[in-house]
Amino acid sequence: MIKVAKPVYIFGSVLILDYVFSQIYTKPRIYYKKNLPFNFNAQSIPPFGIFISEKEKNNKRLLKHELHHWKEYNKAGAILFYLKYFYQYLMYGYDKMPIEIEARKETKETEFCQENYTECVRTNKSLTVQNDKFRKNENT
Ligand SMILES: [Zn+2]
Repeated sequence: MIKVAKPVYIFGSVLILDYVFSQIYTKPRIYYKKNLPFNFNAQSIPPFGIFISEKEKNNKRLLKHELHHWKEYNKAGAILFYLKYFYQYLMYGYDKMPIEIEARKETKETEFCQENYTECVRTNKSLTVQNDKFRKNENT
């Protein structure tokens, strides 16, 4: 019998459980919050749910953007989703990362806003949401 180290078993089991759970949890819980970190308008935090600013409660386009992220989570599980997300974040930055650009395409943002989302959200050019403090670490 091949001897495999215990941490490998543990990590493998966690990865599998995470993946199986992501296959079941296809309808995320939606939470409405007064404030989100860095003045984000919404955040998908699998496997916990989608967090949306109270101001954007009726914003269907923003919800569609977040549900696109949730679908990505359903394809991979939370662990691989976060690895991919943070890898892309470090490689490309928030505005240019492929995961975010895909979600912006889904909500029919212009090509300019797909790649310059922060500027578009701050200067009312985005179709999804307007917020002049977007990604700034200050209170509204
Ligand atoms: Zn996004």
